[in-house]
Amino acid sequence: MIEKQTESIFINGEWQKIDPTKVETIYNPATLEPVTDVSYGGSQETKEAIEAADTAFLEWSELTGRERSKFLYRASELMLDDAERLGKILTMEQGKPLKEAVGEVKGAAHFLLWYAEEASRGYGEWIPSSVKSKRMLVLPKPVGVVGAITPWNFPSSMITRKLAPALAAGCTAVLKPSPETPLSAIEIFKIFEAAGFPKGVVNLVTGDAEAIGKELLTHEKVRMITFTGSTNVGKYLMREASNHVKKVSLELGGHAPIIVFEDADLDKAVSMSLASKFRNNGQTCICANRLYVHESIADEFTNRLKEEVQNMRVGSGLDDDIELGPLINEQAVVKVKNHLKDALNKGAKLEYSGDKSVASLKLEGYFHPPTVISNVTDDMIVMNQETFGPLFPIQPFNDEDKVIAKANDTDYGLAAYIFTENTSRSLRVSERLNYGIVGVNDVFPGAPEAPFGGIKQSGNGKEGGHHGMAEFLEQKFISIGID
Ligand code: NAP
Repeated sequence: MIEKQTESIFINGEWQKIDPTKVETIYNPATLEPVTDVSYGGSQETKEAIEAADTAFLEWSELTGRERSKFLYRASELMLDDAERLGKILTMEQGKPLKEAVGEVKGAAHFLLWYAEEASRGYGEWIPSSVKSKRMLVLPKPVGVVGAITPWNFPSSMITRKLAPALAAGCTAVLKPSPETPLSAIEIFKIFEAAGFPKGVVNLVTGDAEAIGKELLTHEKVRMITFTGSTNVGKYLMREASNHVKKVSLELGGHAPIIVFEDADLDKAVSMSLASKFRNNGQTCICANRLYVHESIADEFTNRLKEEVQNMRVGSGLDDDIELGPLINEQAVVKVKNHLKDALNKGAKLEYSGDKSVASLKLEGYFHPPTVISNVTDDMIVMNQETFGPLFPIQPFNDEDKVIAKANDTDYGLAAYIFTENTSRSLRVSERLNYGIVGVNDVFPGAPEAPFGGIKQSGNGKEGGHHGMAEFLEQKFISIGID
C-alpha cells in the first residue's frame, strides 16, 4: 500500500540510500504483513548526524526567533495538508484506528504551529541590582545539539512535541525514532526538507537503538537528551548522560487512576473512562490503568461500561468504523494476558471479555479483546504495573481520603483523573493527587499550549507550552559593572 522505502536516514540535508544488507523490516501489526524495509543505522551514521547538527548550530541559533518560526510554520502547513495520507501510513505501521491516526497527525502539526508562534518569545530578564554600579541581565541561550529518542505509541506527535520546541529555541537535533514506527518519522523529515530547514538542523537515524543511543550519550557535542519511553530505559539514559553532565528531559511510563465520585455525571464518567482506557487500545502513557468508583454507583457504572465495551468494533485500523486496533507486537499481547491471568488467579471477576467475538473475526495480527474485571485487589499486577492494553480493572471505594491515598500509592506520577460535579472537591482532590497532570472531567489533557509531563518515576521536564521551550534554553547571567 505504500511505496517501497528507498531511504530512511537523513543527515546534513541528504537522504542516504538504503543498503540492502543493513535493513530492518517493518510489519503491519494488524495483518503481520511486511510493509517495507528501512536502514539499520548505527554508531557511524549517528556520529555523522551529530557533526552535521553541531556545524548547523551556529547559524541556526543566531537566527531570530521570527526567522526560525517561518520554517516551523511551513512544516505545520505541509503536515496538515497531508494529514489523511500520513494517518494511513501511521495506522499501517502502528495499528491505531485511522481516525485516531489522522487526529494524531493533526495534533503533531499543531505542535509545529504553536512553537512557530512561540519561537519569538524566548524572553530574558533584567534584574534590578542591589548596587548602583552594576547592571544584571539574563539571556536565554539554546542548549546546543539535542539527541531525541521517541517511542512507537505516538509515532508522529511525540516527534514534533520534542523537535518543535527544540528548533524554536535555536537547537539542532538528531532523532532516533522507534524501530517499530520509523515511517511516520521519515515522512516528518520529508516535510522538514520541503519546508526548507537549513542543512544539518534536523537529522534522522533509524536503526540500532543501543548503538545510536550510546553515540548520543557519549558524544561530547550532544548537550541534551530528550526521551519518551519506558521508565527503565529512561533511568539508563539518565545514568549514562551523567558521565558528560548532559541535560536530560524524560517523559516516561505511568499508571493513571480514574476516580469516579458519587456526585459525578455518570454519562460523562462512563464515556470518558472508556475513551481514556481504550484510546490507542490502552497504549498511551496517560491512559487509565485502574478505575476507582464510589460504591454507591459502582454496579450501575460497571453495567453501563460493559454495555459500551460490548459494542466496540475490533479490527484493522484501516477498516471503517474500527474502534480498537491491534497491539504493537506479540510481547504486548502476552503482557496483557499475564496481567489478566494474575488478576483472575487472585480472585478478580471477569465482567466482560470480547474473546469470542474477536476470535470469530479470525484476525491474524496482535489482537487482544477489550476486557473488564471487577473484585480487584491492590496486590494484583494490573493495579501496580503499566498494562498498556485493553484491560480495565474496577475497584469500589467509600472514602475520599482513602481513595486519594490509594491513587498516590505508586512510583509513577504522570496523570490522574477525577469525575465530580463538586467544585470544592475537584480542587481539593486535584491538589492532593501526586501527579504531573490531573484531569477533572477531562481525560484528554494534552495540548500544545500546556505543560505535559510526570513527576516521580514518570519523568522530569515538560513538553508543551512555554515550559516545553524552556527545557531547551539555558540561562546565561551577564553582570555589567558601570561607572
Ligand atoms: P521503550 O522500550 O523505552 O523505547 C522507547 C525508545 O527508546 C525506542 O525508540 C527504543 O528503541 C529506544 N531505546 C530502547 N533502549 C535504548 C537504549 N539503550 N539506548 C537508546 N534508545 C533506546 O518504550 P516503548 O515501548 O517504545 O514506549 C512505551 C513506553 O513509553 C511506555 O512506558 C509509555 O508509558 C511511555 N510513554 C511515555 C510518554 C510520556 O509522555 N510520558 C508518552 C508516550 C509513551 P528500541 O525499540 O529499538 O529499543
